[in-house]
Amino acid sequence: MRLSRYFLPVLKENPAEAQIVSHRYMLRAGMIKQQAAGIYSWLPMGYKVLKRIEQIVHEEQIRAGHIPLLMPTLQPADLWRESGRYDDYGQEMLRIKDRHDRDMLYGPTNEEMITDIFRAHVNSYKDLPLTLYHIQWKFRDEVRPRFGVMRGREFLMKDGYNFDLTKDDALHAYNRHMVSYLRTYERMGLTAIPMRAASGPIGGDNTHEFLVLASTGESEVFYDDRVTALKLGNREVDFDNRAEVLGICEEFTSLYARTDETHDATLFDAIPEAHRKVGRGIEVGQIFYFGTKYSDSMGATVVTADGNRVPVEMGSHGIGVSRLLGALIEANHDDKGIIWPEGVTPFHCGIVNLKQGDGATDAACEGLYKALKAKGLDPLYDDRDERAGAKFATMDLIGLPWRITVGPRGLANGVVELTSRRSGESEEMSAEAAVDRIAAIYADHP
Ligand code: ATP
Ligand code: MG
Repeated sequence: MRLSRYFLPVLKENPAEAQIVSHRYMLRAGMIKQQAAGIYSWLPMGYKVLKRIEQIVHEEQIRAGHIPLLMPTLQPADLWRESGRYDDYGQEMLRIKDRHDRDMLYGPTNEEMITDIFRAHVNSYKDLPLTLYHIQWKFRDEVRPRFGVMRGREFLMKDGYNFDLTKDDALHAYNRHMVSYLRTYERMGLTAIPMRAASGPIGGDNTHEFLVLASTGESEVFYDDRVTALKLGNREVDFDNRAEVLGICEEFTSLYARTDETHDATLFDAIPEAHRKVGRGIEVGQIFYFGTKYSDSMGATVVTADGNRVPVEMGSHGIGVSRLLGALIEANHDDKGIIWPEGVTPFHCGIVNLKQGDGATDAACEGLYKALKAKGLDPLYDDRDERAGAKFATMDLIGLPWRITVGPRGLANGVVELTSRRSGESEEMSAEAAVDRIAAIYADHP
């Protein structure tokens, strides 16, 4: 993309309404525009990152054997009357009447609707196990929408639902989700720690939240600081292998880490003093096992091998797709702007032309731009007629991990400059070498 033809409405001033750095940078970098409290338009560059995150979530769900579908944002109230949650949900639910005076609502989550789909089409234990998920907009009329996309009213969530015959099978589904979530966050360059949690309105007694540590997080967290060093790395996982999946879950949950209130009694026994930490975190996902809570009330049953009819075992699992943009920026920035991890960056690299209009410099930039695209890369070429300082400031703000700077002085020596946004370090090399280097870096980030 050529910046002169793109739509990147960068703000020079710090927007007064933004209290935390991710919100400030998303507004300043022209990624989002607020349309009402907690409701945003996703401008082109914000939309691009959102789509990259969505893509990673899809790929990792499918890798774990989960099946994508799409349910609507609007739901009939009757489904929620069946589960008993229509009244329980309270003011967070946006309630709507259609022209026939029927009660509708904008879905805050989809347990009822997926259970309705299940009971309409699945009848036998032979169709289990089954995990269905979608990535769809939700609406929760939060009391205090704030911090930009971090706590929106309208927000994008991946929500998945497992259906199993036995509790053991459902607990394997729970563990499978834990491991696939760990993979998902790691691919984004994010450390999200699974922590034991309280279950809230979804119900059930087995639940973990995934927390990104950040001083601006809304949750108080209690943990053994050695959990932050755990990594999956390039480990291949066989998601059908129960022992292997359980082993990984045990490794990641054996150290004390929780967000609920039950810590008081145990926190000072459970963690050696040198590793005890109380901090704050951003919840980027949560998994639940709740057994037959919805299948009982909504009549979702299957016939077993010996001909009995039993309610299906269930769990649900959510990732805050739009909140992840905020969490990623809270975890990756400096005082000049965002520093995107390679896995989610909107463009693979920037090209800065130091002397727009100079024939040789323009030609070198064009050559680089085309060579990068020929390798399947997506560069952002700053071809505006602007001062070098302004171009650097824009690149630093929008946070592309790599920048190639091209000017007449370097070209006279046959070199361009390759700069890492994260370390700030620069290296001179030929344009061809710079293209090869960028291609090699992204070969590790499919
Ligand atoms: P919170 O405690 O932050 O209100 P929640 O526990 O009510 O979230 P879940 O029902 O677990 O949310 O939803 C799954 C995920 O969706 C959360 O882990 C979070 O990342 C994201 N999410 C929830 N509410 C919002 C919101 N208002 N804005 C953006 N993302 C949200
Ligand atoms: Mg939650």
